[in-house]
Amino acid sequence: MKKIEHIGIAVRDLAKANALFAALLGREHYKVEEVVSEGVKTSFFEMGESKIELLAATGPDSPIARFLEKRGEGVHHIAFAVDDIRAEMRRLAEAGFQPLQEEPRLGADGKWVAFFHPKTTAGVLIELCQDREEA
Ligand code: ZN
Repeated sequence: MKKIEHIGIAVRDLAKANALFAALLGREHYKVEEVVSEGVKTSFFEMGESKIELLAATGPDSPIARFLEKRGEGVHHIAFAVDDIRAEMRRLAEAGFQPLQEEPRLGADGKWVAFFHPKTTAGVLIELCQDREEA
């Protein structure tokens, strides 16, 4: 794994959270993107070579809606940039970490993504992501 690509934070109200994080970080978000397949609307802030990704649910069936219901707002996942997502998925699966899907899928920010279950990673949902051009 190369670096922390971003930290995902679940929020109830994306507009409010954008204003809050703009005040906190001293900069505006640089894009908003809806990932229809995941039921989320995301917003990104640049932080050096990493990012903050705010995640809001687009409907009651969204995984973010379920997360907010169970745990409230807060850190939702940590995403690590990788060069070869399939190789990293194999490596982690062989090490006993539980993948949430068999194949990488297209996530926000034009990346291939794959998630690992928090119960095998000390309670933190882990995302791997790889730039799409490299996949
Ligand atoms: Zn993410």
